[in-house]
Amino acid sequence: MAVEYCLFHPQGGGQPADRGWVDGHEIVPARDHDAGLVVARSAGDLPLPDFTVGQSVEVRIDLAARRTYAALHTAGHPIEAAGRAQGWTHAANTHFPGQARIEFTAARPDPRLDTPEGREEATEALRTYVAKAIAEDAPVTWEYDAEGRRIVHLAGLHSAPCGGTHVRSLGDLADIVLPTLKVKKGRIRVSYSAVHRDFP
Ligand SMILES: [Zn+2]
Repeated sequence: MAVEYCLFHPQGGGQPADRGWVDGHEIVPARDHDAGLVVARSAGDLPLPDFTVGQSVEVRIDLAARRTYAALHTAGHPIEAAGRAQGWTHAANTHFPGQARIEFTAARPDPRLDTPEGREEATEALRTYVAKAIAEDAPVTWEYDAEGRRIVHLAGLHSAPCGGTHVRSLGDLADIVLPTLKVKKGRIRVSYSAVHRDFP
């Protein structure tokens, strides 16, 4: 089965794939690089039935997993913005539960990074920035640029090309924790955790 705009998010950009079902068959969405499409593949040993073009199917998604992944992914954006505000350059990101982190490089020596107290001070600056962005409930919006890239905006804070899943606004994020950052192999590593605020 291949559709141009798949409802399921494949693994990519440091984010896990959605979990879902098509007519009760558990699927794994995956990016088919040859076709340039997101396709749903069977999650089990048995192949999916032969669906035909135009056929109606019932599609279900694991909403708890989607919200967990969206919260972890979205939280990376204000952390990236906070790091840029420190003068650092974004280098890499991972949004898997238990491993979420944003990595930066510093073009100029940042003496705070040389001592435990300095690293805690720098982390506290990140925490303050992120807490303010969440308190202001910055909306998450997106648009396609002239090259067809999806650009995600966090109000006036941050814009970046991104194909991930997001919460509607930063106020949907809860329990953001940033342990003291680490410096490894020349990279500033900011680990974090975050959850989706409960819906009323
Ligand atoms: Zn994103």
